[in-house]
Amino acid sequence: MKVMKFGGTSVGSAQRIKNVADLISAEKGNVVVLSAMSGTTDTLVEISGYLYNRNPDGAHDTINRLAAQYRKTVAELYSTDEYKAKAASYVKGVFDYITSFTKTLFGEQEEKVILAQGELISTHLMAFYLMEKGVNVALLSALDFMRIDFHGEPDAEYIKEHATAAYEAAAGADLYVTQGFICRNPRGDVDNLKRGGSDYTASLLGAALGADEIQIWTDIDGMHNNDPRIVSGTRAVRHLHFEEAAELGYFGAKILHPTCVLPARYANIPVRLLNTLDPSAPGTTIDNVPEPGTIKSVAAKNNITAIKIKSSRMLLASGFLRKVFEIFESYQTPIDMICTSEVGVSVTIDDTRHLGEIIHDLKKYGTVTVDHDMCIICVVGDMDWENVGFESRATQALRDIPVRMISYGGSNYNISFLVKDEDKARALRALSKSLFEDNA
Ligand code: ADP
Ligand code: ASP
Ligand code: MG
Repeated sequence: MKVMKFGGTSVGSAQRIKNVADLISAEKGNVVVLSAMSGTTDTLVEISGYLYNRNPDGAHDTINRLAAQYRKTVAELYSTDEYKAKAASYVKGVFDYITSFTKTLFGEQEEKVILAQGELISTHLMAFYLMEKGVNVALLSALDFMRIDFHGEPDAEYIKEHATAAYEAAAGADLYVTQGFICRNPRGDVDNLKRGGSDYTASLLGAALGADEIQIWTDIDGMHNNDPRIVSGTRAVRHLHFEEAAELGYFGAKILHPTCVLPARYANIPVRLLNTLDPSAPGTTIDNVPEPGTIKSVAAKNNITAIKIKSSRMLLASGFLRKVFEIFESYQTPIDMICTSEVGVSVTIDDTRHLGEIIHDLKKYGTVTVDHDMCIICVVGDMDWENVGFESRATQALRDIPVRMISYGGSNYNISFLVKDEDKARALRALSKSLFEDNA
């Protein structure tokens, strides 16, 4: 059995829903996880924004616009009056429900309920369409088995027990369809796995049900060796180690949620990234098999802030780094890159909400300098330190670009450079040329 997840772009229009339906009904017994149609979750966030700000007019306008889009999708998707009516009535019910929040007090819990509607609609539309085609489909409610604990982390045991029960209760169906992203919290209230969380659902569900493979279907051909929006002629990488995929997911290759592959990795289930627009293309396979001596991909993350703390007293002071890190910790600000010397330390952060307080506190320990609008460029592949030449090739490629920090040796899978945001495209292209083209 496979778990197949389709992202928002893959179900973004009536035609795309039809294509996905053809694709998933070609093989029996698989579990299909769907995101909301593209743009829907963003619009639901926008509606919630109006409701928080007690602006019912803004909310009504936005709700009506979204409802009209769904009426159009329903009109295009179904061919029989029976299913047009069923789907239209379901969609109307959802939008009446969303509208009812314009008349009540609005808070975090209400927002979560609103955000859950995108995946509920997409899975219902898909299930109705499959039924209309005569497919024996079981629509499983993710709210029955996806659950997070008090820390907001998935409760793997609960998910395993309840997902297995839901799957077995529907045994014999041709296909099982369920929602990505949405779940319940320990209080039993509707919650979610954070934005982009449908991949996480797929990975958790694959591990819970012991799937043979987890497929993440999107609108491009697998994980590319560079950002296809910036560098032309990028190629899909056919194979990645789980750690390489995690590095890339974090560093801007938006195709995979960074933590999402962990459950699959622990359960040793391969994850495949496939292209809805070209289903027979091989895509990218991610598993635990290392591939010695190859550089796989380059990714970038912008809007990074670098902070340098220089202290001549640091040289002999044990505990200096602890004090520095504690300051970041006390403001719950994660550090991404770190470089140290005997007299100073540079770190980067992307969450600058407490920058002012952090700088203030750091000044107790040394002279503080801040560089804004920086970008981490991360080269991923087999960077085992005993391999020779890779780090120098990457560094050499950036010889004309000012580099603020270099981080190497933190993992066996990456070397990262900090450059100015404005040099990002130039750096990505230079690395692409030297790592993937010159010796290709
Ligand atoms: P989905 O609709 O599947 O949820 P996402 O919103 O998660 O899609 O985004 C996937 C997008 O990430 C792709 O369309 C692609 O443009 C972009 N992307 C950025 N960097 C990379 C990369 N290195 N490899 C593949 N895709 C990338
Ligand atoms: N629909 C949700 C989002 O847009 C979850 C997902 O698509 O993965 O964030
Ligand atoms: Mg996504």
